[in-house]
Amino acid sequence: MEKNSRRVAISLLAHPDDAEFLCAGTMIRLADAGWTVHIASCTPGDCGTMTHDRWEISSIRTRENIASAAKIGATYHCLDERDGMVCYDKSTLQKAIDLFRRVAPSLVFTHAPKDYMMDHEMASLLARQASFMYGAPNASPHPLLPGSAVPHLYYCDPIGMVDPLGNPVEPTTVIDVSQQLAMKSEMLAAHASQREWLRAHHGMDEYIESMKRHGAERGKRIGTASAEAFVQHRGHPYPQNDLLIELFAKGRA
Ligand SMILES: [Zn+2]
Repeated sequence: MEKNSRRVAISLLAHPDDAEFLCAGTMIRLADAGWTVHIASCTPGDCGTMTHDRWEISSIRTRENIASAAKIGATYHCLDERDGMVCYDKSTLQKAIDLFRRVAPSLVFTHAPKDYMMDHEMASLLARQASFMYGAPNASPHPLLPGSAVPHLYYCDPIGMVDPLGNPVEPTTVIDVSQQLAMKSEMLAAHASQREWLRAHHGMDEYIESMKRHGAERGKRIGTASAEAFVQHRGHPYPQNDLLIELFAKGRA
């Protein structure tokens, strides 16, 4: 199979703001290194509200996503599925494959295969299969871009760093994002609708603080102030070398 030598990264995660919690620091590093970066969610976050209707909050959160992505020159995409209803089915998978076909990623981030809610697990399956299939000529009506091939695939930490049964997840790859923490926080803060209701509910800026606690915990593994952790997918025919470690040598498992 052709080697994928493009420098294009995409995160395909379930919801708006998942990327900012789980992999934005590493994506900032990629953008700074000259990579083209895309951020995609399966849903527009239509249930992330106590006050707006589905369409109002989708509109608000889509604008927040675009603003967050723009801070690092990234492009935002949405598969336009619904919160709590993300499925691994033919129509959603075709949307994911078509998105990957247009973007032709060489590096993909998605959720852990086992995570705290099913939207995350379904997004993980969609990203895995879209990675595998998008370079097959007949998989999508969109034109095949030069260099399209099976990309490096990394699973982000599950929420809380544990699987749904409470077992800790052991990362293969830990990337230092200390220098990116300010921008990562700025990107997360762009999701103002989510930050505000959590702040009202908790009486503190829990939205930003929980992201920082997670990063600090992973940072302990490599002796840095903040880090993001991943598990690399190494099944056939995915690339076997740890590209993130090669790019950012300071990070290690
Ligand atoms: Zn989520």
